Amino acid sequence: MSETSANAAPPAPDVDPGAIKEIAPGVFVICDRRVPLVPNIGIIVGNDAALVVDTGMGPANGQKVLDAAKRIAGQRPLVLTLTHFHPEHGFGAQVFKGAAKIHYNRAQRDELQRKGEGYVGMFRTFGAHIAAALEGTKLVTPDEVYDGALSTIDLGGRTVELRTWGLAHTAGDQVVWLPAERILFTGDLAEERIFPIFPWFPPDDAHIDGAHWAQILTELVSWNPAIVVPGHGDLGGIEILTAVRDYMLDLGRRVAAERKAGKDADAIVAALAPKVRAEHPNWAAPEWIDFAIRYYATLS
Ligand SMILES: [Zn+2]
Repeated sequence: MSETSANAAPPAPDVDPGAIKEIAPGVFVICDRRVPLVPNIGIIVGNDAALVVDTGMGPANGQKVLDAAKRIAGQRPLVLTLTHFHPEHGFGAQVFKGAAKIHYNRAQRDELQRKGEGYVGMFRTFGAHIAAALEGTKLVTPDEVYDGALSTIDLGGRTVELRTWGLAHTAGDQVVWLPAERILFTGDLAEERIFPIFPWFPPDDAHIDGAHWAQILTELVSWNPAIVVPGHGDLGGIEILTAVRDYMLDLGRRVAAERKAGKDADAIVAALAPKVRAEHPNWAAPEWIDFAIRYYATLS
């Protein structure tokens, strides 16, 4: 999911390969330019191979990312991984099939298989540009999956760690960590100056663990990353992580207090959402406040 809702009319979710930046030697980000439903995409090059992190949404965006990766990687073999299964992060993977080794964690692969087609259908309703980007999308299975919390990839002179903790923003969120360079790709566990996406769509999709999500952010802070590449928004440092975590913990506490006072979810949304919006005047995608409140309201 990204920073839009079924009621908004988002612009075309086009990846712009011209928005590529080399943030460290051999570490590239195709920046999202703060366009809704465009993620920050990573291309990480070693001596022997290159890793692509996320594809953009739909085959045309995926092709742009694959072309950029080939330009940068030359003859080196490619590996593709995703931060999570959501459409704007992974629904361009089909063009990588056969052109890269596709490598996910098992929970992410399973969630893609359970929910992927449903998300194509839901996203098509988000507007004509989104439906057009998804035209021709075929969901593909990874070439390999890993079990457990860690998969280490040796790209040749450069090690990359894929780390996962289970259910948080999705069932299979994965960060990409370059321990030597201390660069962290977070996926949508952290977005920058964008209200966190709570994909709380009961009864179809209601798999979130906000407490675990906040714990993961605390662990990521403890790694002391030098550069944080959020799922969406501008690059920065650990302040991106703490801002998201503190927002979530604060909102969870406030919703619990309102529940204790006897209010139902609708009443809490009405009372709290405008305040929360006003407290973050420069954050985008305020429609996600309501989803977060409704999620937290189910916990107490
Ligand atoms: Zn996203």
